[in-house]
Amino acid sequence: MSQPAAAVNPEVTQLTHFVGGEHVAGTSGRFGDVFNPSLGRKSGAAPLASKSEIENAISVAEQAFPAWGATSVLQRSRIMARYVQLLYQHQEELAELVSKEHGKVFEDAMGEVLRGIEVCEFACAAPHAQKGEFSDNVARGIDIYSMRKPLGVVAGITPFNFPAMIPLWMAGMALITGNAVVMKPSEKDPTCPLRLAELFIEAGGPPGVFNIVNGDKEAVDTLLEDPRIKAVSFVGSTPIAKYVYATATANGKRCQAMGGAKNHMLILPDADLDDVANALMGAAYGSAGERCMAISVGVCVGDEVADRLIDKLKPRVEALRIGPSLDRGLEMGPLVTKEHREKVMNYIQMAADEGSRLVVDGRDFVLDGHEEGYFLGGSLVDDVKPDMQSYQEEIFGPVLQIMRVGSFEEGAALATDHPYGNGTSIFTRNGAAARTFADKVEVGMVGINVPIPVPLAFHSFGGWKNSAFGDHNQYGMEGLRFYTRVKTVTSRWLDDGVDAEFTMPVLK
Ligand code: NAD
Repeated sequence: MSQPAAAVNPEVTQLTHFVGGEHVAGTSGRFGDVFNPSLGRKSGAAPLASKSEIENAISVAEQAFPAWGATSVLQRSRIMARYVQLLYQHQEELAELVSKEHGKVFEDAMGEVLRGIEVCEFACAAPHAQKGEFSDNVARGIDIYSMRKPLGVVAGITPFNFPAMIPLWMAGMALITGNAVVMKPSEKDPTCPLRLAELFIEAGGPPGVFNIVNGDKEAVDTLLEDPRIKAVSFVGSTPIAKYVYATATANGKRCQAMGGAKNHMLILPDADLDDVANALMGAAYGSAGERCMAISVGVCVGDEVADRLIDKLKPRVEALRIGPSLDRGLEMGPLVTKEHREKVMNYIQMAADEGSRLVVDGRDFVLDGHEEGYFLGGSLVDDVKPDMQSYQEEIFGPVLQIMRVGSFEEGAALATDHPYGNGTSIFTRNGAAARTFADKVEVGMVGINVPIPVPLAFHSFGGWKNSAFGDHNQYGMEGLRFYTRVKTVTSRWLDDGVDAEFTMPVLK
C-alpha cells in the first residue's frame, strides 16, 4: 500500500472506482500499488475503498435496481447483445490491459477475453433460459406457475488471474437476470474491470447497475456484512473462499465461493505421448501456471511412461519462449508480482528439500534487458510423492510435478484423495478406463484427452471439495439459477356460478 504517486511520476496511472456510470476518485486516502510485471515497475495506484465508499456504491446500486429489474428481459437482452458487440470491438484493447497488469502473454489474454464474451453471448438467451414453469388445471380452475426473479444488489469479488473473464462470468449472468452489481476486482489488475463497466454504459446499460469498487479486505468485509447485498459470488484462493462463504452465509446471503486447485493429468501407458507433451506445455506453463485449471501434476502409470514423457518435456521446458507479455509469439510472460514469484520459488526449493528431483529448475532464468521483471523459467519436478507439502498445496506457477504410479487405480485415487477437486484429465486410448475415471473421480470438471477441461458458457464451471463452496456453479444455467430466486403462484379462476372449494383435498 502507498500514497498516490501520479502527481510525481507520470508513468503511474491514478485509478478510480466506477460508480453510477462514472469514474469516481477514491477518498479513503489508501492506495494499492499496481505493477507492470514485465518491467517490474509500478504502473498504477488503485484506490482502496473505505466502508463508507462501499456503502455509497451499494446505495447507488440499490437505487438503480428496481427499474433495471423491471426492464423487460428482451430489452436487457438487446443491451447485452450490444455489449457483446462492443466487447468484440475492444477485444484487443481489453487483452492489452489484462496482459500489461497481469503479465500473461497477449494471445492468452485474447483467449481470456473471448471466454468472458462467450458468457455474455449465452446471457443474451435469457428470454428463453429464464422462462418459468406452468402447470395447467392442477385442480378445478387452478393453475400453478413459477417465475425466476432477480435478487437485488449482488456482489462479485474476483481474483487477479482472470481480470476480464471472471468479472464477465459474474456481471453477464447477474445483469441479464435483472440484478444490480457491485464488483470488487483484484487490486493487482483493476484496469480491465473498470473498462468493462464503462463499456456496459456505452452499450446502453443504465448507470448504477454495474459498479466497480477497488479495495481490499475492508471493502470485502463491507460487502459481506451489508444487509442490502443479497448474494456474493467469489473466486480466489481457498482460505479466502472459505472465509467469504462462512461470513456471507452467516449474514444470510446466498454465496458461491470458488477456491484454489491442484489439477492432475492421468497418463496411461497407451496414451499418445506426443499429444500428452503438447497438452502439458500449454496446460502447465501457459499463463505462467497462474490458472485455476492449469495442470500442475502429471501422473504417469509406469516408469517407462514417465521416463519417455520427461525426455519429451525437458528440452521443451528449457526452451520455453518467455518474454515481455505484450510481445507477440511467446509462450510465457512474467508472474504477477515479485511476492508471488518468491512464493513460487520457495515451493520449488521445498520440492527439492522434500526429496523430489528438479529435472528443470526455472529459478535461474533472467530475461536480458528485463532484469527487474518478475520472470521465472519453467520448472519440471520428478519423483513427487503424495505426502509432500509441495504436492498437497497449490503452487500457482510454471511448475509441473510428475508422479509415478503402478496402476490406473492408484493414479485415479490421487486426484480423488487430493484436498482440491477443481479439474482433472486423463489421456488414454482406452474408452472404458476413461469412462470409469470420469464417472468415479471426485473432481468437478473432467477432461478426456483434453488438457484443460474448462466448460463452455452454456455449461457451467465449478470444482468440488476445497475448490468450491456453495451450491451453484458459475455461469450457464447454474449461474442463471444463482442470480434468481423462484416465486411460485397458485391461482384459481372459475367461471361465474361455479363455487370454489377450500377444503383439504381427499383421495377419490
Ligand atoms: P485471493 O484469494 O488472494 O484474492 C481474491 C479476492 O479476494 C481479491 O479480490 C482480494 O482482494 C480478496 N481478498 C484477498 N485477501 C482477502 C482477505 N483477507 N479478506 C477478504 N478479501 C480478501 O486470490 P488471488 O491470488 O487473487 O487469485 C488466485 C487464486 O484464485 C488461486 O488460488 C486460484 O486457484 C484461484 N482461482 C480459482 C478459480 C476457480 O474458479 N476455482 C478461478 C480463478 C482463480
